Amino acid sequence: MSYRTDEVAYVQPAQPAASAQAAQQKRSTAEYRALDAAHHIHPFSDMGSLNRSGSRVIVKAQGVYLWDSDDNKIIDGMAGLWCVNVGYGRKELADAAYRQMQELPFYNTFFKTTHPPVIELSALLAELAPEPFNHFFYCNSGSEGNDTVLRIVHQYWATQGKHSKKFVISRKNGYHGSTIAGGTLGGMGYMHEQMPSKVENIVHIDQPYFFGEAEGNLTPEEFALARAQQLEAKILEIGADNVAAFIGEPFQGAGGVIFPASTYWPEIQRICRKYDILLVADEVIGGFGRTGEWFAHQHFGFEPDLITLAKGLTSGYVPMGAVGLHDRVAKAIIENGDFNHGLTYSGHPVAAAVAVANLKLLRDDKIVERVKTDTGPYFQKKLRDTFANHPIIGEISGAGLVAGLQLAEDPKARKRFANGGEVGTICRDFCFNGNLIMRATGDRMLLSPPLVINKLEIDEIVAKAKYAIDATAQQLGIS
Ligand SMILES: *Cc1c(COP(=O)(O)O)cnc(C)c1O
Repeated sequence: MSYRTDEVAYVQPAQPAASAQAAQQKRSTAEYRALDAAHHIHPFSDMGSLNRSGSRVIVKAQGVYLWDSDDNKIIDGMAGLWCVNVGYGRKELADAAYRQMQELPFYNTFFKTTHPPVIELSALLAELAPEPFNHFFYCNSGSEGNDTVLRIVHQYWATQGKHSKKFVISRKNGYHGSTIAGGTLGGMGYMHEQMPSKVENIVHIDQPYFFGEAEGNLTPEEFALARAQQLEAKILEIGADNVAAFIGEPFQGAGGVIFPASTYWPEIQRICRKYDILLVADEVIGGFGRTGEWFAHQHFGFEPDLITLAKGLTSGYVPMGAVGLHDRVAKAIIENGDFNHGLTYSGHPVAAAVAVANLKLLRDDKIVERVKTDTGPYFQKKLRDTFANHPIIGEISGAGLVAGLQLAEDPKARKRFANGGEVGTICRDFCFNGNLIMRATGDRMLLSPPLVINKLEIDEIVAKAKYAIDATAQQLGIS
């Protein structure tokens, strides 16, 4: 591949009109689609059906907007895949990558070496994370982060002489990535079905999904408490001496933006402490401002032993993941000989430089603070005002700039659609045609826009979501 100067120009925040022109100078949509169908296998896709319908080709982005190869301007209600926290087109991040590539594009952190970007990033993360988190291990994704978590947990208990502590408890409908370990930790049945084998000693308890799974007259708080107590029952079943850790997303992202009631996490924490079990918060979506706090476990008020980070760490501009270790875990890892785990790109200098630029923007432009005090509350209120008595909205979950809208046949009776997944797809297609990216997980519609979104743009997302949900109700003959 030759070095092309126009690629450098491409990362500059160009004017939409100029870029649309640039896109037209490339290939036609039909050509892109034909080549994509001929050579590219997409993640989590039915390729036969995708190739027949053709992918949407995204050619550029700015702020909270995307442009496709037909020059449609689309508002991104999902921040890419929950990751573009600082929005698109931030020159600070592009400059950081460009400078670092010229200065030191790569060097490893094995064999007694280090480099300035990974040092700066680690010090900055220690400053931004809650006080007991002062050590970080790097990888390239959230999945690798959770693989790393398993390695750290295992090593931790070995250093404590508790070799029988091997089981990790996780939750159904949790998402922890798509490596073999990430997929096993996750509770997505359709992923488990296609895995050649699973990681040993991982078991699941039920999720705290009130709307879908609460029976009888339990309040959300009582239900959440009961679901947390399943952890205690599972520990007693396996034997506390055999249980190493519990892992959960503070709120489930891919599983449908499921926010447990306030009773859930304190009870989980109490149980983990009681039986001497490490508590892992998968902060891959919740981290870096999504709920208005820097980390979602702060929103829910608990203190994990390990945190998994990725996505918003670099705002998705380049891949990077990490694991943050609580002091008590870090101490055991540091003081007990070799830790036999690492990746070629652990602490990659370009990714680290981009992460530093990204975190400084989140902090110094007061982006996280604004989510907490201004845009987050505005977004949540706007959704609740708009959909409070909607005929097919049963629940609105979320905090800050993340939300889940539960589609339901009878909202008051908490009755879901028998064909919920199809209804979600209908709604998602209306969004798509209305140039709004809103994701559907089964019968829940999800929003997680870039954290730089302003109130006018929030109004636009909510208006477009309303249009799509109204159109869905109309198609179903419900009004
Ligand atoms: C996306 C995600 C992961 C996996 O991250 P990848 O970078 O896709 O490997 C893990 N955990 C959670 C909670 C996620 O949302």
